[in-house]
Amino acid sequence: MTAEALETCPTTRSAHTENRIEISHVSLRYFTPQAEILALSDISLTVEPGEFVSLIGQSGCGKSTLLSIIAGILPPSEGKVYVGAQQVTKPSPRIGYMLQQDYLYEWRTIMDNALLGAQIQGRDMKVARDRAVHFLEKCGLGRFLDQYPKALSGGMRQRVALARTLTTDPDVVLLDEPFSALDSQTRLAIADEVVDVLRAEGKTVVLVTHDIGEAISMTDRVVVLSRRPGRIKSEHAIHFPSVPSGRPTPFEVRTLPEFNMYFNTLWDELDVHVEG
Ligand code: ADP
Ligand code: MG
Repeated sequence: MTAEALETCPTTRSAHTENRIEISHVSLRYFTPQAEILALSDISLTVEPGEFVSLIGQSGCGKSTLLSIIAGILPPSEGKVYVGAQQVTKPSPRIGYMLQQDYLYEWRTIMDNALLGAQIQGRDMKVARDRAVHFLEKCGLGRFLDQYPKALSGGMRQRVALARTLTTDPDVVLLDEPFSALDSQTRLAIADEVVDVLRAEGKTVVLVTHDIGEAISMTDRVVVLSRRPGRIKSEHAIHFPSVPSGRPTPFEVRTLPEFNMYFNTLWDELDVHVEG
């Protein structure tokens, strides 16, 4: 499915850029019976292999639209997206997409839910089973393999959804507000685990969030989109000079002086107004 799902780019690209995402001059118009809506305008962005980038912006600025385009679900009106050397024209097993809702099937066990994507893609189920167990265990769900989703909390359910996404071994992982349905403590707890698992796998990650703190603490670069039509307003590389060795965990980041500095900058960039 990979080969036909993606068209080869005419230019030669080296193998180590395989997981790079290149978004080139992407615009998107929605057509409704009443109007034409320009949702995204001339977006160009490169995400390097293994890099974590977050997209932030006000509700309705086109974050989910852009993620759907990268996922190959929505063709752009103009522009192109590449993952490695291949142009994205359809959904592909190389691109994992995790949404706000966990979409677990209540009648399937946790293990069978985690295997769902691999099953749909016709993967080698022995390999998939090993991977599913590995990720469920890493996410602290080793004791729940034979249980049903109703036994789990919201945070645990999202971790099953993450394990399911990773079981299919995509090169690129797209996360659309994956924690927004969770309470704030659970979000903090899950962020560390999720970042840990994704970094260990070396995935290239795009995280959509409207939570500035989540963006700063979880990703290497924050991209701010303007109000509709979504354009790239600014980009902010996130560094922590106060921690000279290694990268602090999302939880630790929130205690650092750089966190407040980035928070204030991004707050101004987002230009948040309370309506009414
Ligand atoms: P975000 O994820 O940043 O909240 P979306 O990408 O969901 O924003 O939507 C961007 C804009 O496009 C919004 O104004 C939304 O109303 C509009 N939009 C989204 N999907 C459709 C659609 N299927 N038809 C028409 N307009 C849409
Ligand atoms: Mg959205």
